[in-house]
Formats: sequence, C-alpha cells, structure tokens
Amino acid sequence: MGQGSSDHGTWNRNRSNNTLDQPGCALARKNHYVELVVDQGTSAPGGETAPGPPQDRLGRPLRSLRLSVTDRCNLRCRYCMPETDYQWLPRGELLDFDELSRLIDRFCEVGVSRVRVTGGEPLLRRGLSKLIERIAAKPPIRDVAMTTNGLLLRQQATALQEAGVARLTVSLDTLQPKRFEALTRRDALAEVLAGIRAASRAGFACESGPTAPGLARLKIDTVVMQGINEDELCPLLDFAAEVSAELRFIEYMDVGGATRWSADGVVTRAAILAAIEQQLGTPTPLPGRGAAPAERFALPDGRTFGVVASMTEPFCQACDRSRLTSDGFWYQCLYAQSGIDLKTPLRGGASDGELTALVDHCWRKRSDHGAEDRASLEKRDTLVPAAALRGNPHLEMHTRGG
Ligand code: SF4
Repeated sequence: MGQGSSDHGTWNRNRSNNTLDQPGCALARKNHYVELVVDQGTSAPGGETAPGPPQDRLGRPLRSLRLSVTDRCNLRCRYCMPETDYQWLPRGELLDFDELSRLIDRFCEVGVSRVRVTGGEPLLRRGLSKLIERIAAKPPIRDVAMTTNGLLLRQQATALQEAGVARLTVSLDTLQPKRFEALTRRDALAEVLAGIRAASRAGFACESGPTAPGLARLKIDTVVMQGINEDELCPLLDFAAEVSAELRFIEYMDVGGATRWSADGVVTRAAILAAIEQQLGTPTPLPGRGAAPAERFALPDGRTFGVVASMTEPFCQACDRSRLTSDGFWYQCLYAQSGIDLKTPLRGGASDGELTALVDHCWRKRSDHGAEDRASLEKRDTLVPAAALRGNPHLEMHTRGG
C-alpha cells in the first residue's frame, strides 16, 4: 500500500535509512528539499509547473485536510483500538498550535479549503478551541468540521460552535449500554448521548430531508459490524431524527489498528440498504455526492442517511483528502504505509515557500487508491499485525485520524 508516497525519489530513501534524523542536519535538510524540488522540476521557487492548484497523478485536487491533534483517546473501540497496550507519540514530538497553523497555511496554498479536526479523541487536546478559532479565521478555509467520540462534548459543544466548528460528527455504534461497554471498554453511553443532545441544542442540529441545503451540520457515524450491532440500524435512525442529526452507516474497515478485523465481520452496503428497506421502505439515492465518502439516501418518510462503503464500493477516484498527524507526518491515503515527514523541515528551518513547494511536489506525485487496492485482493486479512503497530504507531488509525 501507499505506492503513492513511496515514489518520492531520494527523499524517502534518505528517510528510510534515517540520515535525516541526525542532529545538525537542518541546513543539509533544508538544502536537500530545495535541491529535490528543483531536481524534480516541480514548483520550487521560480520552478515552472502547471498553473493552478496541484492535482495528483489521478487528476485529484487536494481540498480537504484531516488534522489529527492527538493520538490519545478516552475510549477503546474494538474496530480501532482492540489491543491492551499502545505506543503513544512522545508529547515533545507533537506540533504546537503555531506549527499546526503554519502547516495548514501551506496546505491552503495548494488548495485546501476544508479542515476536519480529528484524533484519537480531539477534545482531549487542551485549548483546542483556540486552534479552531485560528483555523476558522484563515481566509481560504470555507469549512471546519470535527469528528469526536462525544464523551467530552456535553461540556464543550457551545464553545466549539463559537470557536468556528461548522459541522460535527459523533461516533455512536449502539444505543445499548452493555453493548457500548463491550465495544469501547467504557461504561459511558449516557455521557455520549448527553453530548449529542447538547450539540443539537447548541446549534448543530441540522435540517433533514432530501432538500436540506448544504452539508449536514450534525452527523452520527456508526460502524456496522456483523453479529454486533446490525440489529440497531433503525433504532439509530430514530435517535438521529430525534436529535436532528444525519446518520452515516460505515462498513467495518481493515485499516491500520483494526487488528481483529475479518471479512466475516463486514456488513456490506447492500445488506445495510436491504435491512433498512425491509423495515422503512425503499431508500432513494440522492444526487450531489462529489468527493464525499458517503452516498446519501432518502427514505419514504423524508429522513435521510448515508452509507460509507469503502470495503465494497471504494471511492478513491474522487478522493481529495489527506491526513496530517499531530506530530507532523502527512499521509496521502488512509491505507498508506509511509508518510511524509513535514515536522523535520518545519523545525529544521525550511521557509514557507520551501514547505509549500514540498507539499505541492508531493501531492503532484500522489497516486494512492488504497481501498481499491485492498478490494482487489483475493484474500483480505488484517492490514497491519499488532506487533508491527507497536513498532510504528503512525500505522495506527487513531494516530492518523481515521
Ligand atoms: S483509501 Fe481512502 S484515503 Fe485512500 S485514496 Fe481511497 S478514499 Fe482516499
């Protein structure tokens, strides 16, 4: 996986044999990036490239950045963190708000206009509203969204809205307390439901129905797993309607961290739609998907919901997203095996122009389509074994922000 990121010329090879990690290599690093960019004849200062924001090798622009502000989480969801021990990113390696803001500006210069704040659990990052205010105030940024597990949302919903979060997604896989505890190893369902209700009252409640304008302001993400919660599709739809949220059913993905994943656990898009049709009538597909991961549907009663089918119907061809970890590694695909270290040049003295040129260059070289690659495999097994995850926490979904 992640062929896209592995063909970045000499840079990666240097990276893999760690020459870049030698203290005192800042200047060399700085010159190296300039040289690299110039060598590759891409957008180095004064270099000629195709006009306009860069497109990758599949003609995809970079519009959306998923920003992980921490790898820590206060839940242990079975499909993301099923293990007992985790290798956390050293706190000193985490980028501070000035560094994150500076990097976001570089991404804006190559076309990013949407930022989704993720984790781990983003609400664990102290002073987060301050960072959100800075992101929302950036002229190129049209949309700031956040994905949270909702545990700390009751206390923070209003502050998030005032800081500039326009859209909120809360993960909720069951309405049954015992099942919630079994899935997350925390007896905390009541707190999450209270958080969602607080967000709905705080102004995130969204108009539902096929004609509802724009993107849903409050969404609920449910990972559907065979033998676990496939019997709760309609109760969850009812709850979403009660709090004026739009629900997304997500196929159980074999991403890094899902060490207990198996194909038997996947409830497919087709099975989800068939189960809903049986009880609520035929869902009608809604137009206007664009690059969005979810396909949206309307029910005969006017309610709407979405399905994210990256296992059975991958949507890589329109993928305009990438992910930045809280310690400055840039992943161009959720399935990528290696990322691009932006922290080293950032802290090593690279100028804004050089950083932008590096991001521009690397995006133009991107060709990732991880979910399609996985879907083409004859035998599909877990992506990364637990032992390998301990050796490289960047392979974990909770580090790169789902
Ligand atoms: S797997 Fe996901 S992140 Fe990777 S290219 Fe496909 S849609 Fe994009």
